[in-house]
Amino acid sequence: MRLANRIAHITGGGDDGWEIYYRTRALEQAGEAVINLTIGEHDVKTDRVILDAMHASALSGNTGYAFGPGNRALRAAVADRFAARTGAPTTWENIVITPGGQAALFATHMALLDAGDRGLFCDPYYATYPGTIRATGAIAVPVPTRPESAFHPEAAEIAARAAGARTLLINTPNNPTGTVYSRATLEEVARAVTEHDLWLISDEVYDSQVWDGTHVSPRALPGMAGRTITVGSMSKSHAMTGSRLGWIVAPVPVAEAVTTLATSTTYGVAPFVQDAALFALRQGDAFEDRIAAPFRRRRQIALDRLTGANRVRPIPAQGAMYVMLDIRDTGLSGEAFALRLLEEERIAVMPGESFGRAAAGHVRIAMTVEDAAFADALSRLAAFADRVSD
Ligand code: PMP
Repeated sequence: MRLANRIAHITGGGDDGWEIYYRTRALEQAGEAVINLTIGEHDVKTDRVILDAMHASALSGNTGYAFGPGNRALRAAVADRFAARTGAPTTWENIVITPGGQAALFATHMALLDAGDRGLFCDPYYATYPGTIRATGAIAVPVPTRPESAFHPEAAEIAARAAGARTLLINTPNNPTGTVYSRATLEEVARAVTEHDLWLISDEVYDSQVWDGTHVSPRALPGMAGRTITVGSMSKSHAMTGSRLGWIVAPVPVAEAVTTLATSTTYGVAPFVQDAALFALRQGDAFEDRIAAPFRRRRQIALDRLTGANRVRPIPAQGAMYVMLDIRDTGLSGEAFALRLLEEERIAVMPGESFGRAAAGHVRIAMTVEDAAFADALSRLAAFADRVSD
């Protein structure tokens, strides 16, 4: 029996860049102690008060099918949060609730790309991006960014790949680089997508984690609301990764298209999860600041431990829960560095190559273990880098 080509097309025939992560999981399951700095999952669990709200909602009977685009009160709360933070006028009609930011990315690309179109995305990139674009039948085209330009996208690189393209996916604050795009960068991107008539898909799931600079959302730029789709999520801002609650902020026709798709895919998000999300959003900014605080602290720990290291150069993250380390001075690739670090020190980090060509010779550390263990791991990583350098 034959499988659809679609699935092989998703990975593009290559590996998916997650070998270190799978190897780490296997070691942990075999009872080995590994300091796991691979994935972006908080070291705290979803707060008890949110779980209590979820429980109460389910017990009161909210256990039936969800209505397609999400419940009106939650859509309004998401719109209010977005408008207050970005200054972009937004109402509940612009919002569709999805099972997480990843489902929002998938639905948006499904709504905007036909088979054979080109979907652009910036390199380095969050590991799911090319597969998500390819899953629609489109061709995923990386737009390179450069370490010397702090990995900001550049108009000339977008223009060079615009023929046959219909979408550009950007991500600020950025995973894996920690870059927060400046207003000037986003204005340049806005000019480029307008000139080439592209939809702009802006992944802003880290909007509550900004350490340096200001988060600017391109939907707020003049003339951009009609061609921008913003992806958001409760995963990072409220430590609700497993609850699977995200959204898009979009022009109404795109919101309607994504809702149509939900009837063939997800049927929306569980009503008691939506109620818990509404409760969580009503806790306000102070709650989000509390969830973000450990990463702000550990970013400083990383800079204190690694600034002045011989062979490792930390790239000061402006946002998100990661720090990229430039390890090119060791003479190793990011992959070789990560593999040996795991085998010899039982410290797991992600190779830059998992996030595209532009991040080769780098590794990404997730700041997701408690402060003392995190600091210790960084000191051992710096000593390891000295030891393995040729
Ligand atoms: N976008 C980026 C940049 C991410 O890092 C992640 C998760 N790591 C997601 C989207 C998806 O998050 P979720 O589906 O949990 O909202």
